[in-house]
Amino acid sequence: MKHSGLRKPFVLSALCAAMLMPAVSAWAVTDQEILDDVKSTNQIVTNGMGLQGQRYSTLDILNTDNIKDLRPVWAMSFGGEKQRGQQAQPMIKDGVMYVTASYSRVFAVDARTGKELWQYDARLPDDIRPCCDVINRGVALYGDLVIFGTLDAKLVALNKDTGKVVWRKSVADHKAGYSITAAPLVINGKLITGVSGGEFGVVGKIEAYDPKNGALLWTRPTVEGHMGYVYKDGKKIENGISGGEAGKTWPGDLWKTGGAAPWLGGYYDPETNLLLFGTGNPAPWNSHLRPGDNLFSSSRLALNPDDGSIQWHFQTTPHDGWDFDGVNELVSFNYQDGGKTVQAAATADRNGFFYVLDRTNGKFIRGFPFVDKITWAKGLDKNGRPIYIDDNRPGSPSAAEKGKSVFSAPAFLGAKNWMPMAYSQDTGLFYVPSNEWGMDIWNEDIAYKKGAAYLGAGFTIRPLNEDYIGVLRAIDPKTGKEVWRQKNYAPLWGGVMTTKGNLVFTGTPEGFLKAFNAKTGENVWEFQTGSGVLGSPVTWEMDGEQYVSVLSGWGGAVPLWGGEVAKRVKNFNQGGMLWTFKLPKDLVAKR
Ligand code: CA
Repeated sequence: MKHSGLRKPFVLSALCAAMLMPAVSAWAVTDQEILDDVKSTNQIVTNGMGLQGQRYSTLDILNTDNIKDLRPVWAMSFGGEKQRGQQAQPMIKDGVMYVTASYSRVFAVDARTGKELWQYDARLPDDIRPCCDVINRGVALYGDLVIFGTLDAKLVALNKDTGKVVWRKSVADHKAGYSITAAPLVINGKLITGVSGGEFGVVGKIEAYDPKNGALLWTRPTVEGHMGYVYKDGKKIENGISGGEAGKTWPGDLWKTGGAAPWLGGYYDPETNLLLFGTGNPAPWNSHLRPGDNLFSSSRLALNPDDGSIQWHFQTTPHDGWDFDGVNELVSFNYQDGGKTVQAAATADRNGFFYVLDRTNGKFIRGFPFVDKITWAKGLDKNGRPIYIDDNRPGSPSAAEKGKSVFSAPAFLGAKNWMPMAYSQDTGLFYVPSNEWGMDIWNEDIAYKKGAAYLGAGFTIRPLNEDYIGVLRAIDPKTGKEVWRQKNYAPLWGGVMTTKGNLVFTGTPEGFLKAFNAKTGENVWEFQTGSGVLGSPVTWEMDGEQYVSVLSGWGGAVPLWGGEVAKRVKNFNQGGMLWTFKLPKDLVAKR
């Protein structure tokens, strides 16, 4: 209990103490509750609805038989003149919902009524440098703190009752292009965060902080050659384990501005005690300036949570030349193969391939395309390395002229971007929000300048089909087979959730929250929220009823970077709403 005002012994009777203590201890989010989040249905205290990020709920009160009666209970506006993209996943603890909104805002909301309890607005400087809209993807809960990252690259811990700042810590220099948009992760008393900024030539890093006071515990840069450190008893100890060799996979000094930003955060697998993070593109985009694999860009990394040392890495796009960030979530799951359990992890990459890895060692098990058109590679070799089609790499520029332009699919916004997929423990399928698009891309001359865009490339994104871009796909990770697909006119940009009620939920830029039959793909329910749905839906149980919540508010990277696609969706309205749904009580009683 941290409220000093309530700790005066001469006013606090034993009776008061007895009444106060249970309420406080009941709230405080513990390490055990975070580990158990995947099993508990009455609260959501992790991003991903469980540390492995499966976004699967064991609730089946709501199911394919009764979903047609799902109704809104309340909606709440984030208000303000500034709206833009809303991409967070709500968290729920003891009847209170904690969400972030655009422009680094946090809201605490009564989950039963939608009444706002408090709001925190980070005072952002004028010179923030978010590459891809002023979004945020959610909070972490720990003890009595609500913790999130800001667009000026700070971590802020708020008191869960008042929204008042308990501690604030700068993670990196926003003037160099750093920002934070991902939800932090708490595991075994450590708060883990990545950083954004690969488009500005930052050096990506993953760091652990003490969630109680913001003290730095370890730092692990994600560009090969940079040293990692552990901080202990006021001492800084070198931790070079698997940090690699400076200049080995990078020419000259380019590793000093190498990008590889782990901007989407990560997950944790309790079975192997590994943090699983992805890293973004190498900087600059013009690949001719940096011959080599450019580790650890466009990779998945497994880290020891105690010291940040890299246990293994798997690079999806070595020597990336298309902005194929490798940040997309690596979701742990187990499956049976010939009577033995395989501890696997799957990821659907920006580059168009779906990968299944052995998560104990990062070894490639299998991979396959999950979109219809891939122009830059013929396929994957036996180690999962792409077999490049050299003619389809954008050409090298000269000082005077831009390089040869090529048409590439997928577009740099990815066969799948940030929006998390879901894995059903019932069907054994992944539900992947994907997009079918391509781009004209060419390289240009570029030099690094602190805080300036560091691309060395130009591009125009184009749809591949007249009638759709988005495709929600059900994919069997054991065979690579697409079990069903549902097309959408606009590109999909929202998270996915699946439930034991045989349901899959996701949103569309057109404003619908939709539900599908997990086995067949049939669209069984939809609701118009008034603006594009880019958030990640959640479900939980309260007072014996099953609730569903999602954020609505169009924005994100597509309207900013989408070229011809942005024109297609230019009339979509912005918003900023939090919607909550449930079945009417009398209907549930009759089921
Ligand atoms: Ca990027």
